[in-house]
Amino acid sequence: MRTCLAIIGLFITAPAWAQSPTVAAAKDFYCTPGKAHANAADDPVLTPTKIFDNLYVIGRSTTAVYALTTSDGIVLIDAGYPDQLETVLLPGMKELGLDPTRIRYILVTHGHADHFGGSTVLQQRYGAKVGMAAADWETVERPGRGGAPSTGPKRDIVLAEGTPVKAGDTEIQVVAVPGHTPGSLGFIFPVRDGSTTHTAALLGGAILLPGRPDVPALQG
Ligand SMILES: [Zn+2]
Repeated sequence: MRTCLAIIGLFITAPAWAQSPTVAAAKDFYCTPGKAHANAADDPVLTPTKIFDNLYVIGRSTTAVYALTTSDGIVLIDAGYPDQLETVLLPGMKELGLDPTRIRYILVTHGHADHFGGSTVLQQRYGAKVGMAAADWETVERPGRGGAPSTGPKRDIVLAEGTPVKAGDTEIQVVAVPGHTPGSLGFIFPVRDGSTTHTAALLGGAILLPGRPDVPALQG
C-alpha cells in the first residue's frame, strides 16, 4: 500500500479485465495497462486496518480505499473496482465495524473505474454523494465503446482545488494534481492518534511512484 505516517499514495492499476458486462463496458475507464510495475485486479487484498483513530484502509494493495470517520458520517476516498464492492470493500468495512449506511461522501481521486467503480452502487443503495473533479466527471460520463451507457455514478459534487469538503467536524482540502488524468486530485485532512492530530495527504495517480509516472519527462 506504500503507506507512511502522513503521506499515503493511491496508485494506478492495470487490471486483468473481469468480463461481466458492467466491467467490460467500463474497461475504457480503467487505469492504463502496460505500465511498468502494472497492478492487477487480483493484487493482494489488504487486511482491513485502522491506521489512525479516524482513518481506515480497505481494498487491494494497489487500489486502496480509505475511510475517514467524521462526526457526520464516513467519507470514503475512492471506492475500488466495480465488481469488488461485495467481495472486498463491504466485507472489509464490516470487519472494521464501519456501517456503509453512514457513508456521506465518496471523494474520487481520479476518473478511472478501478477507483470510482464501487461508488455507483454505494450512491444508489446508501445515498452517498460522489465527488470528482470536473474534467474527470466528463470522462466518467462519456459513453463506453459501442455507445454503451456510462456505468459510473451520477454527478453529485464537482471537486475543485481551493474548495474544501466539510463533513461534520472534519474539513478536507482538495488539491489538483493533474497528470495521470486531467482531474486527478489529492486530499489533505487531519488524522488523530490519541491526543495528537497529524495532517495526512493522499494523492491519486502515479506521480510519486518510481517507474510509474505517466509523463515521460518525470520518469526515471
Ligand atoms: Zn488511473
